[in-house]
Amino acid sequence: MKFNTKTIHGGQIIDPAYNSVMTPIYQTSTYAQDSPGINKGFEYSRTHNPTRTALQNAFASLENAKYGVAFSSGLAAVDAIIKLLKPGDEVISTNDLYGGTYRLFTKIFEKYGVKFHFTSMHNLEDVKLLINQKTKIIWAETPTNPMINVFDISGLAEISKSNNLLFVVDNTFASPYLQNPLEMGADVVMHSATKYLAGHSDVVLGALMLNDEEVAEKLYFTQNASGAVPGPQDCFLTLRGIKTLHVRMQRHCENASKVAHFLNSNQMVEKVYWPGLETHFNHEVAKRQMRNFGGMLSFRIKGYTKDQTIKFLERLHLFTLAESLGGVESLCGHPATMTHASIPREEREKSGVTDSLIRLSVGIEDSDDLIEDLQNAFL
Ligand SMILES: *Cc1c(COP(=O)(O)O)cnc(C)c1O
Repeated sequence: MKFNTKTIHGGQIIDPAYNSVMTPIYQTSTYAQDSPGINKGFEYSRTHNPTRTALQNAFASLENAKYGVAFSSGLAAVDAIIKLLKPGDEVISTNDLYGGTYRLFTKIFEKYGVKFHFTSMHNLEDVKLLINQKTKIIWAETPTNPMINVFDISGLAEISKSNNLLFVVDNTFASPYLQNPLEMGADVVMHSATKYLAGHSDVVLGALMLNDEEVAEKLYFTQNASGAVPGPQDCFLTLRGIKTLHVRMQRHCENASKVAHFLNSNQMVEKVYWPGLETHFNHEVAKRQMRNFGGMLSFRIKGYTKDQTIKFLERLHLFTLAESLGGVESLCGHPATMTHASIPREEREKSGVTDSLIRLSVGIEDSDDLIEDLQNAFL
């Protein structure tokens, strides 16, 4: 089955109860048993829920994986992965990391004795240098948030394999439409389905996709034992969103390309970060591992202070100033004071998140209107 068919049919069945074509919202916490332990495979909704099962099958299908695991948020999915570890274990991660993931690693899991190393993953030798006997996981995000860095997934997978590590890729920014890390050697793919997968800014949900049965069993165990499960209504909304993923992503990419080229040719703009531009640091890697370049971009305006940058954002109308990304509507953000405020200034500026950086989630509106909105914000 091709990707554009999978988004609609992947892992889906006609519901056995009444032959409904769309997966019903099984809004129930529990299921009647004929006799203790005699049931239809469903006992309690933290453990199993038919709407969630349908979503998990869709997740697996999108990343060509055997298993899909759904969580109540992207961070709950990250949490379940790190819970595979024990005190003393180490994780190597990119230093250009989603702020919430960084906070979870450093503020929660360091307390339990897990050690995290943060490094630029551009140079694979830097990653190798951090590996020791305690290393268990390589955690990569590509493209990254908000610098839109692109890392070589196959290269990292090779290092991970030869050192017997678990290689996890946060594929939120690309979505399965643009790249499938499992096929490039990753062990687990993580998504904040809140973003492109659900796609309409109306749900918070997380996903893990993988092929290894043993790891999958541990993750299903944590899903039930820790209990960060999504409700059936949120599973339904995500399933519904996924059905148009391919059409939305195509337009996100087209619009982002137009916006990136518009900004890049503007005299006031210092730099545009979008992997489709030849000036992008890792344009060649992006061309190799992605099918297109995505709807996320960041840019800096020459000489702008923090105040001037914030005023620019306030002058935008179609781009709504908001956290999050990946919805049909365009959003803009100021990473330094919004998504990345929890990262210390020094750490943040090292990775390029300065006060003058603006991040755009380019939506699927008419690109002429989006460009006009930006044009009007330049003084
Ligand atoms: C939003 C996001 C997360 C966290 O997901 P939630 O659904 O908000 O918990 C993790 N990684 C990336 C890249 C994200 O954009």
